[in-house]
Amino acid sequence: MTDREASLDRWLEQQLGAMEEALSSLVAINSFTDNVEGGRKVGDLLAREVFTAPGLESSRVSSTRYADHLVFRSAGKSGADPIALIGHLDTVFPPGTFEGYRTDGDLRRGPGVLDMKGGLVVVAFALRALAQVVGLDAIAPLRIVIVADEEVGSPEGQKIIQTAISGARDALVFEAGRKADLIVTRRKGTGAVTAIAEGKAAHAGNAHHAGANAIWALARFIDAAQKLTDYSRGITVNVGIVSGGQSKNTVPDRAEAKIDFRFEHAADGEAVFTARVLAAPTDEALSYLESLPGVAHKTAACVLVFSARTSTTLPVDTHLFRVADRLGLARHDGRNTAATRDRLIAALLAHGPDLALAHFVFLLVGRTTCIAGTPICGSCFLRPHCPHPHRPPRETQ
Ligand code: SF4
Repeated sequence: MTDREASLDRWLEQQLGAMEEALSSLVAINSFTDNVEGGRKVGDLLAREVFTAPGLESSRVSSTRYADHLVFRSAGKSGADPIALIGHLDTVFPPGTFEGYRTDGDLRRGPGVLDMKGGLVVVAFALRALAQVVGLDAIAPLRIVIVADEEVGSPEGQKIIQTAISGARDALVFEAGRKADLIVTRRKGTGAVTAIAEGKAAHAGNAHHAGANAIWALARFIDAAQKLTDYSRGITVNVGIVSGGQSKNTVPDRAEAKIDFRFEHAADGEAVFTARVLAAPTDEALSYLESLPGVAHKTAACVLVFSARTSTTLPVDTHLFRVADRLGLARHDGRNTAATRDRLIAALLAHGPDLALAHFVFLLVGRTTCIAGTPICGSCFLRPHCPHPHRPPRETQ
């Protein structure tokens, strides 16, 4: 051990009482993620009394949804790349479930002792020790972020961390390790989604046929979602909470499931989410896909028809519209509207179940024989079924 390390060690030994006091004060305040008031109190304590090493500047990123997020910085050694230290101040236990701080032999118990107010105390006192013995200007610049929404997936914290630690050489997270007390070098990605099924309520006795059972629909979705689990690739999907229905003799018109999924590789996480999107109701899936950069309605509809094999939407472009019109499948008012699309879907499904195949065939015909202007009807295999060659042009009808 070097003289400097011995000095750090001695200083920290003297701080054991202060560390315990800091931990007990933090744990005693409930900071369940949705308990904004409690989270703010913990944030105040951290900023004013715990992270007080000389050379640290503190700032807050205010939130209207959660407690404020905290950011600390040090100027550090000139020319050195920053090091990021990351943590969170929220915990998973709502008020009244698991509260208080207590001593149990060598152990300390309470919400956040492990995850991760204990880790925050370790960081704060390590920095105080460094500030005391060597000075924070003698080590790499520090970028410290303590978010208030980690337990719900960091919807705000993710962006705050990205911004605050930009350019950092390394990042250390001070959540506790596992039982063996080893350093954890990577963690799984996580995601959370809520699936909502909407049906139609009806009396289960005398009007069962008039209802649409949302719980049944959700059950099928849940079965498909759970099957996305692949232990060999580190992918898990867990439907953790299900609710819905009004009474046993009512066809339920609404049901909801909350789902947690975890993955080792970002691409797997994207794939699970995409699979979830593709299984969603068409309107919801369409609006999500259309919200992606560079994805317009036609592409989104193609994804749903060709990947999810949905039969409730169809990308009706000018070629498809023209062929359908000439074949008399899309009786319309001369415009390619949603009503035209729905009539065309119904007509195609009446001839066969594969909407994707029908789309492909119509597109091919539209680009080769049933072209705009004068169609090449003599070469068209659809001619026996097509009224167009035998009727006058539309303009004179
Ligand atoms: S017969 Fe002529 S008008 Fe009819 S679909 Fe074929 S190319 Fe088009």
